[in-house]
Amino acid sequence: MRKLNPALEFRDFIQVLKDEDDLIEITEEIDPNLEVGAIMRKAYESHLPAPLFKNVKGASKDLFSILGCPAGLRSKEKGDHGRIAHHLGLDPKTTIKGIIDYLLECKEKEPLPPTTVPVSSAPCKTHILSEDKIHLQSLPTPYLHVSDGGKYLQTYGMWILQTPDKKWTNWSIARGMVVDDKHITGLVIKPQHIRQIADSWAAIGKGNEIPFALCFGVPPAAILVSSMPIPEGISESDYVGAILGESVPVVKCETNDLMVPATSEMVFEGTLSLTDTHLEGPFGEMHGYVFKSQGHPCPLYTVKAMSYRENAILPVSNPGLCTDETHTLIGSLVATEAKELAIESGLPVLDAFMPYEAQALWLVLKVDLKGLQALKTTPEEFCKKVGDIYFRAKVGFIVHEIVLVADDIDIFNFKEVIWAYVTRHTPVADQVAFDDVTSFPLAPFVSQSSRSKTMKGGKCVTNCIFRQQYERSFDYITCNFEKGYPSELVDKVNENWKKYGYK
Ligand code: MN
Repeated sequence: MRKLNPALEFRDFIQVLKDEDDLIEITEEIDPNLEVGAIMRKAYESHLPAPLFKNVKGASKDLFSILGCPAGLRSKEKGDHGRIAHHLGLDPKTTIKGIIDYLLECKEKEPLPPTTVPVSSAPCKTHILSEDKIHLQSLPTPYLHVSDGGKYLQTYGMWILQTPDKKWTNWSIARGMVVDDKHITGLVIKPQHIRQIADSWAAIGKGNEIPFALCFGVPPAAILVSSMPIPEGISESDYVGAILGESVPVVKCETNDLMVPATSEMVFEGTLSLTDTHLEGPFGEMHGYVFKSQGHPCPLYTVKAMSYRENAILPVSNPGLCTDETHTLIGSLVATEAKELAIESGLPVLDAFMPYEAQALWLVLKVDLKGLQALKTTPEEFCKKVGDIYFRAKVGFIVHEIVLVADDIDIFNFKEVIWAYVTRHTPVADQVAFDDVTSFPLAPFVSQSSRSKTMKGGKCVTNCIFRQQYERSFDYITCNFEKGYPSELVDKVNENWKKYGYK
């Protein structure tokens, strides 16, 4: 039997989840109007297996089934980050720290560009529809949250755009809503790369005919990297090749020169216009709110052709309260880039993470105290330095608060992070504000305040490291079971636990 390759093949990824009892195939008819979304939310919030909706109300034979919660968390016993690990071909028990470190390791590997394959070996070309045959409104696109502005086809697909000189091809995720039978609208915002590329077309007077492709069911490693803020000018495809250790097979679009993953479930292609816009949103986003009737004009995508596999499957993310893909992927991948930036900047940082419970608004940095003391700095000076590095770089765009903690804290354990936060900083006094940097427009306290007009500031660095620790070692007893007692005693208590009468 062929060995499954879940990082390269979306269908293998689904099979692996099935084999690990981490997939529920729902054959009952499910309504894409809110029911799909509700089931997904329950699965995310209780770390239950991913739902594969095989009988979506209104679907045709091939268009489409829905895979929900593709990178949600699952039970601890199965490896809570197992789905994310499978996106990279890693052991499902790999921790999030292990995943972050693996991604950084892959950056040292040789980039591997994609390989073009003939149409005959591209499953995504099984069915091809020309513009006149496309009816986006007849697809069973999910309406995910009460009061969303429309049906969101695009939550876990990959946009492909390329600069006019073809030197930079960007693969990225940004939400997209169905407008009518031929149009999709979605976020194309600064400083995202999709916007930078679109602007490079506008600069040559072609801002209303930018070729695009939108691909679903791409190699899982590719969708993961699409959520990652890797540096400008670097083509995600080559980094994906480095992660996979093999290049991604691609095939040419029907109506433009863009190359799309050959095993994609569905490919929508056409042109993007920055000048033609349509009301987009609101949409229940990563921070857990729908703000009723608050849509904004966004650029318009015109779909000119569509191709798809037999029994195509649409992967869907349904953002909200933690934990979904906007936290496990966007948050963790920003943390990955943040760790790299710390290393490049010579900051004494051991690890970086965006705790899920903080809805990807906090970046927590674990500071190496020996390295910090060697800097002979003060909390004020160090906070300023850290904020200047992160808030002025693209990686800090979605972050509103950077939390500095000492190296006794496991930053992947929110219980420890929130303990350090509430006990080691004096509110306001130990926080350094940054009021001249770009705000994150999706943050509710930005979008729902006057800051939405200026889009500046509202960010800070919070120092949760005792002032003494900047100069010397400063000992305290942590009053908990694991760290607060002699290790021999902890071992003894553990050994005798049942003898005491506990189960
Ligand atoms: Mn990019």
